[in-house]
Amino acid sequence: MSSIYNEAAEWITDNWTGTDDLAWRNRIVDAGYGVPSWAPENFGRGYTRDQAREVLRAFDDARVPGGARDVAPFSEVSWLLLPGAALTDYGTAEQKERLLRPMITREWDLGCLLYSEPGAGSDLASIQTTAELSGDGENYILNGQKVWTTNGHRATFAILIARTNWDVPKHAGISLFIVPMQQDGVEVVPIRQMTGDSEFNEVFLTDAVVPAANLIGGEGNGWKVLQSALGAERRGMGEMAQVGRDTVESGENGSPASSPLFTRSDDLVEAARAADRLDDPVIVDEIMKIHTWRLTNDWTQARAKMENRSRGASPLASLGKLANSRILHGASDLEYRLLGTRGLQYDKEGDPDAYRTSYDMMMGFFNSVGGGTDQIQRNIISERVLGLPRGAQPDKGVPFRDVRKAVNRSLSGEK
Ligand SMILES: Cc1cc2nc3c(=O)[nH]c(=O)nc-3n(C[C@H](O)[C@H](O)[C@H](O)COP(=O)(O)OP(=O)(O)OC[C@H]3O[C@@H](n4cnc5c(N)ncnc54)[C@H](O)[C@@H]3O)c2cc1C
Repeated sequence: MSSIYNEAAEWITDNWTGTDDLAWRNRIVDAGYGVPSWAPENFGRGYTRDQAREVLRAFDDARVPGGARDVAPFSEVSWLLLPGAALTDYGTAEQKERLLRPMITREWDLGCLLYSEPGAGSDLASIQTTAELSGDGENYILNGQKVWTTNGHRATFAILIARTNWDVPKHAGISLFIVPMQQDGVEVVPIRQMTGDSEFNEVFLTDAVVPAANLIGGEGNGWKVLQSALGAERRGMGEMAQVGRDTVESGENGSPASSPLFTRSDDLVEAARAADRLDDPVIVDEIMKIHTWRLTNDWTQARAKMENRSRGASPLASLGKLANSRILHGASDLEYRLLGTRGLQYDKEGDPDAYRTSYDMMMGFFNSVGGGTDQIQRNIISERVLGLPRGAQPDKGVPFRDVRKAVNRSLSGEK
């Protein structure tokens, strides 16, 4: 075992109280073990991600919760890593202590993203939700409508982007806030998805209040601050294919137990075996093709993380996210074909395997749409990696007030 592992293990032995409460979680954060790969000024130890994983392993081996949340599976900690990126890049020391610490300790146990609006998805800079400074300068008052808000019904806080200036071009008039969700001015209405779940919502803001002290990076800088959160989201989504279903729940803190090699590709082997097609060279070829995509994407993700030191969204993260779409759709497509006519069923009790395959197939579109669509990732890659010319920008330089805009309408018909 490495010295990092041993040091963490020793610290756990000396400090674990046996109770997973706020005092314990603050103690972890004070020691830099809550997010060890973050810089010391951001509650970390400045470790590499591999070193942070050793810390996670030490916590897992000791069966002690709360350590190394920075390297836990992205699907479980996205609500920490996204605001975490914005706050570590642009938050003041006071904001980090007041807003970031409770996210790491899970005092604020879940966040959501109030970005998209009915008229602003791919063209996110066209948001119309407005934040107006109150007369006493203490608060901003929020009015508008958000949509597709994952976990909005359960979240304690949100990252919100809103328009603070209508008289400058669209990107320049946006500000970013950390907003408390539990308040009268925030109404959350669930949306039913094609899977049958209701994980995302419409959110209506009517004179909702956010302290001016929760403005991150200054007024009008929200687009720039948002890039840090979006970069973290794309990197995380790009790496989700590396962690298979079986490994996600493996450790106390969720550390993957096996290498990426034996995650979802293993599922494909199992699916081929169950369909009695493991000796079919065409099927074997397909499995290896998807597996190769996965391994190549692992390397792309590793490169994206090496770049992670600088602020903002890396085009490499877009490459990884796009590649993950291909992996998810390719794997689901193959599993679906192996099921044959059973794939027509969507019956959790009657045929759980067929249900899971159909469910995964539908959820694969999460990666292709959420966090910026595949087409938008291609635009980013073409412009920022390949240096191709940008598409037409009819609203460039035009004050947002004068730009033609979509009219927001509720999906649920509640409003
Ligand atoms: C599962 C899931 C979870 C989500 N969670 C959240 C969340 O928590 N918070 C949040 O704010 N949002 C969330 N979203 C919303 C998501 O970010 C948007 O759906 C996405 O950005 C696309 O916006 P849109 O739906 O308005 O589609 P549109 O922007 O209307 O796009 C429609 C189609 O046109 C294409 N298109 C648009 N512009 C271009 C262009 N310039 N070049 C080429 N093609 C283009 C798109 O690729 C797409 O195929 C979530 C979405 C999903 C699917």
